[in-house]
Amino acid sequence: MLISNSTSNVTSASGIDAEKTELFLRPFGWLAEDLEIDFHQMCRHELEMQILECCISNREGTKLDRTFFWNLEIGKRIEYLLTLAALSNSSKINVNLRCSNLECQRQMEITIPLVEITRLQQQSENQETEIAIATEKLLLRKPTGNDQRLWLKQQFSDESSATIAMVQSLLVSEQRSTFQQVDSQEQHWIETLNQVMEELDPLVNFNLQVNCPYCGSENLQDFDLGAWALQQLYGVQQQLMVTIHRLASHYHWSESEILAIPPGRRSNYLALIDREENYR
Ligand SMILES: [Zn+2]
Repeated sequence: MLISNSTSNVTSASGIDAEKTELFLRPFGWLAEDLEIDFHQMCRHELEMQILECCISNREGTKLDRTFFWNLEIGKRIEYLLTLAALSNSSKINVNLRCSNLECQRQMEITIPLVEITRLQQQSENQETEIAIATEKLLLRKPTGNDQRLWLKQQFSDESSATIAMVQSLLVSEQRSTFQQVDSQEQHWIETLNQVMEELDPLVNFNLQVNCPYCGSENLQDFDLGAWALQQLYGVQQQLMVTIHRLASHYHWSESEILAIPPGRRSNYLALIDREENYR
């Protein structure tokens, strides 16, 4: 599948040209390298990078440099993971919610097509990340994997000093002193910032807003899109193991022999085994 990626200012600053790059995305769960991914590793964004590295290449089929993925904005990374989940497993999200109205608490099933979510991301890409606090206007860039890696290495005494340091690193250098003034004058800037970032980075701060069909109450719930995508891809990896196990048990082929067979043909063999077993 071809996707186009408009690289942001951030990536251009790190040496990747900002022109539109055409990328090729293959489904996860096809090749031996997909089995190597450890879904239980501690660092989640490291895991996300490894999956994207496996499945995204340029038009010629050449793998991209790691720095490309670390320079991606977090929202864009989530979009790619969701696209991968859609290609490999499911093109919609099904969630079961319980109504938050204590007198109702009925179960609701919600379905969201992934194309709607990726559209949200694409719409947000052309927006200026300007935030007005007190009388000042600050221009923020959206965070990337590199920022996440840097923040994790730092030690913060409390949540608010962590937020201040994060905002500082996302501002253009000329605005850092302005921000220090604003921080001392205006107490509620964190709330304003959260609101603005939710609109500007909708996939990073995604929440489900549903009106209960039984009592009409409004339900608002955070939903971690990246975690959902990882869960789908983990399922795909497990499915590949089952396929290998089944073909190996039946035909006595080795793991590498099975992985050398194109995925479509593996499914054909599985169907033949099923048929044989059903006729027994
Ligand atoms: Zn309800």
